[in-house]
Amino acid sequence: ESKEKIAIVGSGLIGQFWAMIFSSGGHKVTIYDIYPEQVSKALQNIAANLALYEKQGCLRGQINAEQQTCLISGSNDLQECLKGAVYVQECVPESADLKRKVFEQMDPFITSEMVVATSSSCIGVSQFVGGMANKHRTLVAHPVNPPYFVPLVEIVPGPWTLPEVTAKTRALLEAVGQSPVTLSKEVPGFALNRIQYSIINECWNMYKDGLLSAADIDKVMVDGLGPRYAFIGPLETMHLNADGIVDYCKRYAQGAYSVCSTFTPPPIMYDVPTAERVLEEMQATIPLEKVADRRKWRDQRLAALAALKTQL
Ligand code: NAD
Repeated sequence: ESKEKIAIVGSGLIGQFWAMIFSSGGHKVTIYDIYPEQVSKALQNIAANLALYEKQGCLRGQINAEQQTCLISGSNDLQECLKGAVYVQECVPESADLKRKVFEQMDPFITSEMVVATSSSCIGVSQFVGGMANKHRTLVAHPVNPPYFVPLVEIVPGPWTLPEVTAKTRALLEAVGQSPVTLSKEVPGFALNRIQYSIINECWNMYKDGLLSAADIDKVMVDGLGPRYAFIGPLETMHLNADGIVDYCKRYAQGAYSVCSTFTPPPIMYDVPTAERVLEEMQATIPLEKVADRRKWRDQRLAALAALKTQL
């Protein structure tokens, strides 16, 4: 007996991941795309990936790959895709105009049982749902690539989103094994990119000052902060590195302040001459023609880390 139906609108990279995540939780999933051939291609990719994950021992959920594959079907009709669904995850390309068009097409089919989430990386729902009758049932559920192995989802309600819609989304995502966080309102960059950009800013500034090589800057994260952050966040780090966070602040505020007062404003995002110098250094280890292979390697490492974290 499968769980409630989920609809996926847009069957590219992220749409396919969402389909696999929801089917791993036992949900029936229907995927839709504006291009029928993309739906067929997505169904083939999903079946192949689920079989591969099973073979590699990183398949999620309590049912096998074949059972999960059977839960996912395709549709070339938007209304049919949404019919009977309790949750819709929109995954069309990142453009407010395109998302507005797709949400307006979905509007007549949205029921009082349904939540409609966008996978949008940067664009808040307030930028494209304003004209909809069902705007109070929409919100952002922003995944992190590859979502099958990196569980965070940022839930960002718009100004009209009903609290019950936000709560229902969080509960559903938790039930299928994602790790949702909820922002209280829309803010540029949501949470992940605000943190990520502040890190990149300092990396860029240190590189431009000639303080460290690009490889050594990345090593600070990979062999320093990264391993720690795979298990505890920056606030818990403060809590553990003293007798609690209040003690930490009393002891280290002065030192932190004197470091932070040497920070320079954000660099011009991101100047090409500096990028070209970083590229020159990176060419030695990851030349542009090897980037796709390196992405595959990254996804395999993330899969291994996700598996490890479930065993610890
Ligand atoms: P993608 O290009 O791989 O897939 C988009 C799909 O949408 C394509 O299959 C396309 O045919 C389909 N499409 C286009 N117009 C459509 C329409 N009118 N109706 C239905 N389908 C339509 O893109 P993606 O990387 O999967 O990104 C999708 C969304 O997820 C974007 O908002 C993106 O910002 C967000 N996101 C992407 C990543 C990432 O790393 N790729 C991470 C997090 C969030």
